[in-house]
Amino acid sequence: MEITEPCRVSPALQQYAWGRQAPDCFVAKLFETSRGPYAEAWLGAHLNGPAYVKVGSSILPLAEAAADFTNSALAKVLAVAQPLSIQVHPPADVAKQLHAADPENFPDPFAKHEAVVALTPFYALSGWRPVAEIAQALTLPQFGPVITDEIRGQAASPGPNFVKEVVRRLLSATPTQIAEAIEAIPQDGGTSKVDRWLQAARSWYPNDVGLLFFYLLQLRKLDVGDVLETPAGVPHAYLHGECLEVMAPSDNVARCGLTPKHIDCDAFLSSCDWGKTSTAGSPVEEDGVKRYTFAAAPFCIEMLERGALIDKNPTRSRVVVALDASGEFVVGDQRFPLHGTESWLLASSLPEHHIDLDRGKVACFSARS
Ligand SMILES: [Zn+2]
Repeated sequence: MEITEPCRVSPALQQYAWGRQAPDCFVAKLFETSRGPYAEAWLGAHLNGPAYVKVGSSILPLAEAAADFTNSALAKVLAVAQPLSIQVHPPADVAKQLHAADPENFPDPFAKHEAVVALTPFYALSGWRPVAEIAQALTLPQFGPVITDEIRGQAASPGPNFVKEVVRRLLSATPTQIAEAIEAIPQDGGTSKVDRWLQAARSWYPNDVGLLFFYLLQLRKLDVGDVLETPAGVPHAYLHGECLEVMAPSDNVARCGLTPKHIDCDAFLSSCDWGKTSTAGSPVEEDGVKRYTFAAAPFCIEMLERGALIDKNPTRSRVVVALDASGEFVVGDQRFPLHGTESWLLASSLPEHHIDLDRGKVACFSARS
């Protein structure tokens, strides 16, 4: 069935406990009839939560309506009210080994590169801090119960495996040692942003070794429209805010903290690529359209904040998310109103078309061949 006009998309809601309870977020607005928590709206073809498209009188899975999205990237709108687990996605070579050894916990042999574009101010931990900062942090009293004299000795002139050894040590500490370390974190401790986020996380995860990772990972703040790109192998935890997240279609994750789930120390250590980090940045902007492309990933994002997004010769399909928007799609001499927070498919089979925006924002997600 050739699609010749814009079609409404129904995303898949994921109600994880860390999501926002109140309906004042984009995820909730995409699902008017559901109750919270509103965590993720999936806008892809993933089997665990495929989006559906209304084409004429038929309802089709997204991958059937637009072949571009078969086995390609997945986009999600997130509403993060509580910190997510500190996690890393294994690079391809490690993913292959982990999947062969433990297919239940590592369901595919692929690397997962991910990126977030902030829809509100957005906070995350992402990437290791510089080694000198980590060495300095280990002198704090809270590391006394968990760090050995041997590691303390290395801190003066850290070798290439220093951070890995620190992490290994933290993840092999006993529950008593972790409790003593966390007890030593001052309750009113400090006025820095890291201290404030640590105290917030402590209220949700009071005895969790992940609290100590606030001293090892970089705190990132994204303003609306900023992007944070996290390659496979780089540890991260999203702390708060709303974003559009896009990722390669893999579900492999190894966790090290801020989670009630099992922590697999060996899988976490082997999944880290110690030489890599994440990058925060701004997009390229032209005529009111911000474009985000990623060298290592098969997807791209466009964000329209004013004016028009024009596609004279469509070669790829777009999933479009209107965000408190008012405007219209124009296809030939036909007009289709766009209002509020809703999602649409602009299939590659459409003739020349454009999106006219009067108010709000429109985010577009497309697979890149
Ligand atoms: Zn992740």
